[in-house]
Amino acid sequence: MRISELKLHPIAVADGPLRSSYGLHAPYALRTIVEIKTTDGITGISETYGGDRPLAAIEAVRSRVVGMDPFQLAGFWQYLSAQAEQDKADAAGGRSQTWLVPGENPLDQHTRTFAAIEVACLDAIGKALGRPLCDLVGGKVRDRVPFSAYLFYKHAGAGGMGADVRKDDEYGEIMTPDAVVRSCKQMIAKYGFKEVKLKGGVVPPDEEIAAIKALRVELGPKIPLRIDPNCAWSVDTSVRVGRELKAELCDGGYLEDPCAGMDGMAEVRRRLLAEGNDTPLASNVATTCFPHVPEAKRTDGVQIVLSDPHYWGGIRNQQKLSDLCEVLGLGMSMHSNNHLGVSLMTMAHAAAVCPALTYACDTHYPWQTEIDEVVVGGRIKFDEGSVVIPDKPGLGVELDYDQVARGRERYDKLPYRKRDDEAEMQKHVDPNWKRILPRW
Ligand SMILES: [Mg+2]
Repeated sequence: MRISELKLHPIAVADGPLRSSYGLHAPYALRTIVEIKTTDGITGISETYGGDRPLAAIEAVRSRVVGMDPFQLAGFWQYLSAQAEQDKADAAGGRSQTWLVPGENPLDQHTRTFAAIEVACLDAIGKALGRPLCDLVGGKVRDRVPFSAYLFYKHAGAGGMGADVRKDDEYGEIMTPDAVVRSCKQMIAKYGFKEVKLKGGVVPPDEEIAAIKALRVELGPKIPLRIDPNCAWSVDTSVRVGRELKAELCDGGYLEDPCAGMDGMAEVRRRLLAEGNDTPLASNVATTCFPHVPEAKRTDGVQIVLSDPHYWGGIRNQQKLSDLCEVLGLGMSMHSNNHLGVSLMTMAHAAAVCPALTYACDTHYPWQTEIDEVVVGGRIKFDEGSVVIPDKPGLGVELDYDQVARGRERYDKLPYRKRDDEAEMQKHVDPNWKRILPRW
């Protein structure tokens, strides 16, 4: 079996005006659907980051991918790693996501590109063998992968532009503790999630503390809670929030990336522990690649590593990370971005094969709708907050090519080819807004 064709489908997916410390989400999120065809007539698919940079990075390996045996992934990894020698030299120091969103960090380019091709190859191999993707890498350790209700502050609106402005703003404006609780109840009623995450770093910390406390009152003691301000807070503020939310976060939840940098995280940890507060710190900003993981252990700056097959280098790297976390005694959860069903199923298979991953994974899936979904049969169903690993070959989903074409049409009309939350914030909310760290 050889890869005879590589097709890339850049698409745009409507997205509401969600807020984070990076700024504001644009009216469309950019994604790329990757499709390989084999000489046996099999199609393998994956979904990755969108826009010019991720697309160009995959284009750059086209001549290496076409003609490749999809089983020979280690050699492809070696090839891409050799291309990224400078990245490796810089790896431990300059590779955080403090300033760059995951799809835009040039130092992750080879791991992102590898993941996009690896997942498509594994999907094709699964289809060739008639086995689910997770079975190709050792089999699943769980049949159902739990996801969390991922709450955001947002302005009114549901994304889209011009004639494609989306009118069904399911969650409305969310800028107060009451609205956070309302959106959470809506999301849990619809999907059955059993863990909850609030994207913070948007309004002053006392308002976010109030939102988490209100969630705890509304949801009762059994639902783990987490908050992620994406480094918006100073060390002092992080310690204060950790102190005030000790009771709310310590029971199965976590405090995610409260401040920037491993050293800052480590200081927050030391000061909280000194107060008898062992709320774990999680990170997808200070820990974004393998060299960061022993550093997280050595400094005790991170207790829960947020994996992500899309930029950690695919499903098998996800397993390596699980092994490393197990060896080092670290926890593991999973980070997400705006995504559709191919990516969601990739995350589900990735989580299913990682014994160390014991927290519900993040997902932005509730913020997207049926209108943009590209898999046959429409949106992936959640069962009590979990995705059940299907007993179907590969990822278990197929592309709806009409829907892919519609996504492409939306993409072609867009004036931007890069995620830039700061520019969106300046355009729609405050022309003088700048990302300042720490803001509080
Ligand atoms: Mg995060």
